[in-house]
Amino acid sequence: QERLLRPTVLASRAYAVAPSDGFIKLDAMENPYALPASLRSAWLAALQDADLHRYPSPRPEALMRALAEHGGIPPEMGMLLGNGSDELIQILISAVAGAGRPVLAVEPSFVMYRIIAEQQGLAYHSVALDADFQLDLSAFLAEMERCQPAIVFLDWPNNPSGQMHPVASLEAICAAAPGLVVVDEAYHAFSADSFAGHLGRWPNLLLLRTLSKEGLAGLRLGFLAGPPAWIDELDKLRLPYNINILTQKSVAFALRHAAVFAEQAQEICAEREFVYERLRALGIQVWPSRANFLLFALPGRANAVHAGLKEAGILIKAFTGHPRLGDHLRVSIGTPPENRAFLAALEELL
Ligand SMILES: *Cc1c(COP(=O)(O)O)cnc(C)c1O
Repeated sequence: QERLLRPTVLASRAYAVAPSDGFIKLDAMENPYALPASLRSAWLAALQDADLHRYPSPRPEALMRALAEHGGIPPEMGMLLGNGSDELIQILISAVAGAGRPVLAVEPSFVMYRIIAEQQGLAYHSVALDADFQLDLSAFLAEMERCQPAIVFLDWPNNPSGQMHPVASLEAICAAAPGLVVVDEAYHAFSADSFAGHLGRWPNLLLLRTLSKEGLAGLRLGFLAGPPAWIDELDKLRLPYNINILTQKSVAFALRHAAVFAEQAQEICAEREFVYERLRALGIQVWPSRANFLLFALPGRANAVHAGLKEAGILIKAFTGHPRLGDHLRVSIGTPPENRAFLAALEELL
């Protein structure tokens, strides 16, 4: 193996997903609500004429137009669909992969930026967020000037802190970036803001979205929007039939019923504020969040509490061994009963 495999592959580790059968699952930012029973038969009917014996459309134009329209993407922008936005991050990074073309992000950030960059042999640079997970714009601009990244990834809101950096900071980064700037709006459904209206203002600005966090994680669909000149180049790296027919049909169906998902997102935001207040009332340091999760700190006992919650059948996210986040835990917002079970078990453990 050492003889055949690239050193970056040998050095990397497989992405670990905790077994979750039977748990109240609050670790992966999924929408806790299933497709309502009232929609299930209509959804199955929509799948009935799927041509399973044919390859799916490689560029489903009508679906992309519907996604753009629903997502507030200016119509003159190009769009690339991915098998989850993870695949689009992989396409972006493999498009620029090479010596002297690093990737830059804030720390902490969504982990796949680093994992994919390192797997592809790119240097990965990061600029630490401050103690309250706010962006130090001048430090970021200085590092960008120094390392000349081919791609800057900005998760907005940030995962895992839920913070949204000021629009003016994003504008300053776009204006000064020597390469691509990818604004990753994975939590758009919960953030009440978007950078989509700025697409086209800078030729190197791209916008990344996913349907995973708002109720369709099982389908695996993300999209990248931006100037056609960039999208057309990146599209060459997409495998021809990366979005299967069941996903295409299900997403089209979901867009026709977008109000159902919007209502769920609203419910999740209301619960987020409830859980936030309850954590504060317990004397826990917790950061206000514009996403469907909350980050909180339990100095010296994050691991013990994480294990205790697991014992109680509740799975949340720990950052064991992380230099910055070792004392932190991240909980995804679930249904009202799930959130109350989490809070009760947590209180018990404090
Ligand atoms: C979850 C997440 C993604 C990945 O989404 P998929 O579409 O499910 O691959 C991308 N970016 C951020 C910031 C995320 O938190």
